[in-house]
Amino acid sequence: MGQSCCGSSDHLPGDLTRRGFVHKLALGAGVALFSNFIPSVARATNKPECMVLSCLDFRVMDDVANLMWGRKLHNKYDHIVLAGASLAVLNDAAPAWGTTFWDHLALSVAEHGIKKVIVIDHRDCAAYKAVLGPNHLKTRQTETEAHTMMMTRLRDFIKARYGTMEVELLLMGVDGKTDKIG
Ligand SMILES: [Zn+2]
Repeated sequence: MGQSCCGSSDHLPGDLTRRGFVHKLALGAGVALFSNFIPSVARATNKPECMVLSCLDFRVMDDVANLMWGRKLHNKYDHIVLAGASLAVLNDAAPAWGTTFWDHLALSVAEHGIKKVIVIDHRDCAAYKAVLGPNHLKTRQTETEAHTMMMTRLRDFIKARYGTMEVELLLMGVDGKTDKIG
């Protein structure tokens, strides 16, 4: 414990030796090459179940992935990332962001048949601060209310376009803890 590396690959586990690493690399490349030739029919059985909308903030990326992993939905969701998440779609100052979201949602529905959208806003969001100003951050409650207002509006818009679409709203802390909204 705590010893520095001895400098000899003789004492390293097989996977960590240079030869083992190169072998794994070659094997991985082969698998990747092979997967390109798997018939699309075979791959079609592994379609995503939902689409996630989240903010681009680097602090929550791993937490979003962990959340989906915990739900056993890793590799089973489409993911669109826009600054502010729900706010990005509703922000009149940058309407192209909303267009991007709706275009990608339409693609996700058409190509993957998704039946659910999970909107993940997060606390201490710079996009919210830029658009709404600092007042909404006065208390945890006012911050929750600001996100709730935007997220429920977005849910209504999604429902108006896709009546049967399930929409889940989550507000995540930068510590990864998540509250259900609505
Ligand atoms: Zn953010």
